[in-house]
Amino acid sequence: MDAIKEFFRDQAQYLRKEVWEVARQIGEHPELGYKEYFASEVLCSYLQKHGFEVKRGIAGVETAFLARFPGTGPGPRVAYLAEYDALPGVGHGCGHNLIGAASAGAAVILSKSLELTGEILVIGSPAEETSGAKVTLVEEGIFKDVDAAIMFHPGSQNVPVISSLALDALEFTFHGRAAHSVAATNFGINALDAVINFFVGINALKKQLSQDMKVNGIITEGGTAPNIIPERAVARFYIRAKKRKDLDELREQVIRCAEGAATMVSAKMTWQKFEFSYDEMHTNLALAACFTKNLQEMGIHQIASPQTAMGSVDMGNVSRAVPAIHPYLTLGTGTEIPHTRDFAQAALSSDGESLVMLAMLTLALTGWDVVSDKKLLQQMKQEFLSMK
Ligand SMILES: [Zn+2]
Repeated sequence: MDAIKEFFRDQAQYLRKEVWEVARQIGEHPELGYKEYFASEVLCSYLQKHGFEVKRGIAGVETAFLARFPGTGPGPRVAYLAEYDALPGVGHGCGHNLIGAASAGAAVILSKSLELTGEILVIGSPAEETSGAKVTLVEEGIFKDVDAAIMFHPGSQNVPVISSLALDALEFTFHGRAAHSVAATNFGINALDAVINFFVGINALKKQLSQDMKVNGIITEGGTAPNIIPERAVARFYIRAKKRKDLDELREQVIRCAEGAATMVSAKMTWQKFEFSYDEMHTNLALAACFTKNLQEMGIHQIASPQTAMGSVDMGNVSRAVPAIHPYLTLGTGTEIPHTRDFAQAALSSDGESLVMLAMLTLALTGWDVVSDKKLLQQMKQEFLSMK
């Protein structure tokens, strides 16, 4: 390992305690998406303490932030993505406290080098679990002139190359006519019946879909009292597919199902998106190979082959705007299931601390390669352009 990387390794050791303190504080103080006031403040003040210029509240999102540290000369711009939202009921069951801390830690490590050129950014991106703010941050041009977008996510395996499913969040409202359930049945139009028809139709549709297409729904409104024919019923769905193009087609099929279900009982149907749409994740393979090489230099050799995460991430939208990676690294023994209290506990344990250390150093070394290795940068750009 060359001298500069040894220097970063020493910095990581030196920063270990305080970065873990950031992760621990956020972990013990879980906040839901767009309410992460405590977490974003912890990260912002940590970065400010290390000389970053910090803008709190960007792109109209209060708990988003942009921290920047300029190098000593012109060069590439590397953005580390910080996530820090929790889940209802299970706290940091997705380990986002570790993501925020590792990204901030990586950026601080790099900022200590007098040889740093270009610019290091930390982009605080709220609400990954719901209507992810990265969608807004991309739309508002926060990633303009960014050469690489980098983060890690705790998981059950080390997986540098992932793809994820594109996602639409659809809400269907069925409009009927209220009437007495017994005395005036011929006057009423039962919106709940339309929803039930809809679910029956969706179950039939599901049998025709390929395995990587997912349709999952719940009924959020189904009437107010058994003696009133429901005049309004609402269902919410997440639909997913491997590619945005296929998802656009699936969405049309699901809408046709809803229309048919309404028609069967002479109800009306309207629909809208109730959260942001996510695109599928395109891992930049050149950047991921660099991350893998650095992971191996850290002594990690159990590395899984590329995988499609059976979920959706708002990093997908970032990956369509700039070269990006979203690698998973093993938390603890890899046996805890994400989105559980056990996972949240592991993310607050010594396993969480070890993972933050590994992640922040690997992220820092990867960022360093991006700013210092022109060939790598060129490969990343070429790959990104051919993907587009
Ligand atoms: Zn997550």
